[in-house]
Amino acid sequence: MVKKHLFINGTWVEAREYRPLYSPFSGELLAEVAFADEADVDKAVAAAEQARPVMAQMPAHQRASILEKLVLLLEQNAEECARLIALEAAKPIATARGEVSRTVMTYKFAAEEAKRIHGETIPMDAAAGGENRVAYTVRRPLGVVAAITPFNFPMNLVAHKVGPAIAAGNPIVLKPATQTPLSSLFLAELLQQAGMPPGAFNVVTGSGGIVGERLIQDERVKMITFTGSPAVGIAIRNKAGLKRVTLELGSNSALIVDQGVDLDTIIPRAVSGAFAFAGQVCISLQRVYVHEQVYDQFVEKFVEKAKSLKVGSPLEEDSDLSALISPKDVERSLAWIEEAKQQGAVVAAGGIRDGNCLYPTVLLDVDPGAKVSCQEVFAPIVLINKISSVAEGIAHVNDSRYGLQAGIYTNDVHTALKAAEQLEVGGVMINDIPTFRVDHMPYGGVKESGVGREGLKYAVEEMTELKLVVFHTHS
Ligand code: NAP
Repeated sequence: MVKKHLFINGTWVEAREYRPLYSPFSGELLAEVAFADEADVDKAVAAAEQARPVMAQMPAHQRASILEKLVLLLEQNAEECARLIALEAAKPIATARGEVSRTVMTYKFAAEEAKRIHGETIPMDAAAGGENRVAYTVRRPLGVVAAITPFNFPMNLVAHKVGPAIAAGNPIVLKPATQTPLSSLFLAELLQQAGMPPGAFNVVTGSGGIVGERLIQDERVKMITFTGSPAVGIAIRNKAGLKRVTLELGSNSALIVDQGVDLDTIIPRAVSGAFAFAGQVCISLQRVYVHEQVYDQFVEKFVEKAKSLKVGSPLEEDSDLSALISPKDVERSLAWIEEAKQQGAVVAAGGIRDGNCLYPTVLLDVDPGAKVSCQEVFAPIVLINKISSVAEGIAHVNDSRYGLQAGIYTNDVHTALKAAEQLEVGGVMINDIPTFRVDHMPYGGVKESGVGREGLKYAVEEMTELKLVVFHTHS
């Protein structure tokens, strides 16, 4: 059996303990993975701290060049990356290939951003007493960045932290999700080949409660960049003191469908938004509010399309959905569906399991207080409720603890602009699903969906410190 060690200070380091990693789909043993203790975390942070001046002094063109080499290596190893994601996350192989392409794009953007980190000049004489001074700002790297990542996009969401950290000149300690360490360990191999200095990139696998907690406590760590569930994210923020913290958390993303829109173009987008990677996407479409004029037609077409999706092995080319990340999540999903039914919801499709897979599930007439509506479902479950106006739809969308992205399909420009203004989210998608994302756009949430923004340029801002220089030209 393959033993996967820790990656610290440019070498593979043995841990005291190893834990088995199983495929969520087949239960097959994939590897024995290092289960780090606190001393291992300390070693990784010490290595990163030592690499701090090396990274801070590295010229921008060299940081860009490491990222460009990484892009080439990822392209050369794309199929292996996709296979690893399919195995560890049960992501259908075609979807996994899509994630690898996006990862390549994310690092390309990071390489470009490395070359355009700059400040501005400040007209000091605008203030009385500020005369005879030249002033400018520069952006300096923060120092050791600890990245804590979730299971659902094990390569691209890691790229959204590692890419900008390298671009900004920061060393990194990465703690990937326990279920998806293989792609991060492979990244360590590739980054080493790309010329990362020893200690500038470290991977510490193990439990969030041990590794994550230790990283949060360590004073040498200057930033925690976390993507994951709201409960863990909020706890991190409460403990982080003066560390910079970026939190990309969950959501119960919603879509409004106005009357008069062409349903045939919307349906395939909406179905893929709801069920891609079995709904385990932070901006997965969970709630749909459809105008009463088109509701029945929308439901009929949506259900037909949802029923046509293929559930199967992640390694089969034509699988649309596969297993949920754990059997516990299948149980939880079924319990939530049952609760919605008790409160009057109608199951129009799915609601049944096959092994660790849950069939695409469509619920109608769902009570807003049901967990499938007001909590993050993170499973292939979507609700479709009827509204009599877009204003009513907006009120439903905003009646949420979360606010990551929302979408609206409408032919009326005034309605679109009103929605853009009134929806309480980090991003409004007009004539698209809330699940739309390309990797350079500013991305992040309001309310319990998080703080800070990713998207390379924006993440680089979060990972740098603004420094002011004032030059007194006459004494
Ligand atoms: P999770 O359970 O919160 O885990 C995320 C990471 O946090 C994992 O590496 C986990 O380690 C670690 N962790 C757990 N407890 C910790 C602690 N006490 N201190 C520090 N770290 C700790 O989330 P998940 O189930 O992997 O991912 C799903 C969630 O991520 C959903 O809520 C989803 O919406 C959110 N998400 C958000 C975005 C976004 O960009 N907004 C994108 C993707 C996913 P272990 O694996 O060892 O527990």
